[in-house]
Amino acid sequence: MTTINRNYQKLPGSYLFSTIGRKVRAYESAHPEKRVIRLGIGDVTQPLAPKILETLHKAVEEMGDAETFKGYAPDLGYEFLRNAIAENDYAARGCGISANEIFVSDGAKCDCGNIQEIFGPENVIAVCDPVYPVYVDSNVMAGRTGSFDPASQMFEKVVYMPCTKENGFLPELPETVPDLIYLCFPNNPTGAAIKKEGLQKWVDYANEHGSVILYDSAYEAYISEEGVPHSIYECEGAETCAIEFRSFSKTAGFTGLRLGYTVVPEALTVEGVRVWELWARRHGTKYNGAPYIVQRAGEAVYSGEGRRQIRTQIAWYMENARIIADGLSAAGYEVYGGVNAPYIWLRTPGMMTSWEFFDELLETANVVGTPGSGFGPHGEHYFRLTAFGRREDTVEAIARIRKLH
Ligand code: PLP
Repeated sequence: MTTINRNYQKLPGSYLFSTIGRKVRAYESAHPEKRVIRLGIGDVTQPLAPKILETLHKAVEEMGDAETFKGYAPDLGYEFLRNAIAENDYAARGCGISANEIFVSDGAKCDCGNIQEIFGPENVIAVCDPVYPVYVDSNVMAGRTGSFDPASQMFEKVVYMPCTKENGFLPELPETVPDLIYLCFPNNPTGAAIKKEGLQKWVDYANEHGSVILYDSAYEAYISEEGVPHSIYECEGAETCAIEFRSFSKTAGFTGLRLGYTVVPEALTVEGVRVWELWARRHGTKYNGAPYIVQRAGEAVYSGEGRRQIRTQIAWYMENARIIADGLSAAGYEVYGGVNAPYIWLRTPGMMTSWEFFDELLETANVVGTPGSGFGPHGEHYFRLTAFGRREDTVEAIARIRKLH
């Protein structure tokens, strides 16, 4: 008899953003006259930069000519892109990562979700709380849960590391050593960034205890402060304990094009096995590679012109972040993030729960944000707004929120 993967039934209710979507659709159909502003889901709004567009057109033309046509891409990605990444994202920052250690993909979500497959089912994972939901959900789907404690609503094999205003939204080293440690800096949802000395402590801890750090650096391009590492490989010894995920989504507006990459250093071994071999095997077996034209567009991100245009886009989003943070602070809200990340993490007023504040904002200000509790228990009483909206929407949303309390 056919059975299903019962682990899927252990997943919490429904995915955060589908619940938000349902509520917003219900409100809009009941109030068609209202203009709802969305500062919830972290999708970009600016079109692709001219240099990217020009490169895409050129690559499309190449595909229509027998001389330059490209079929299946190399398993790990085209050399031209992997070399550009190695040079610009790593060598330029003094990190010894080679092109061979870079696996090109269609984005960080897939890689963050799939990476757990190459590790044993018995591993205990640690995640920040609040956290980007993909890390926990993908491990639950794979059955890496242990028993479920209804009182705390937590799984035995998932260690939640509280990130609160008291610890500056930076997790503390866990007393019980986890096997796989998910870290994301600059952080979604809190917008917090970690300094190099702070990250070095995690690298030393992982090397000392034989843990592997899964480092999500999807928002690296938004770092504005000195002393904040852009890559975990800026820390000494990270090549023997860390895998890094990067994305072109927020860096260059590729959420619709799809491109990302994962770094698996050759020096990273677990149980005497090179983890690189396992990820290469998985990539070659289960993944088709990002399209040629998209990889060419990715290469253009590193060109002089591409770089300048993308920097302008990021600065534009970060001006939105400033408008949100300053506007809410001036109105008496407790506001975090928005300096090295496009996310503003605010405390809900008067101890309202995150969902109560969500409902009030939707119904009274017609603004959509993301309830902090959807990211984990320590996200309760917090709320996330993103800087990815249109400028006029961002300005108006803040004006509307300021009228509330
Ligand atoms: N990692 C984090 C922390 C994210 O917030 C996101 C997207 O919102 C991703 C990864 C996904 O990136 P991609 O679009 O490359 O799949």
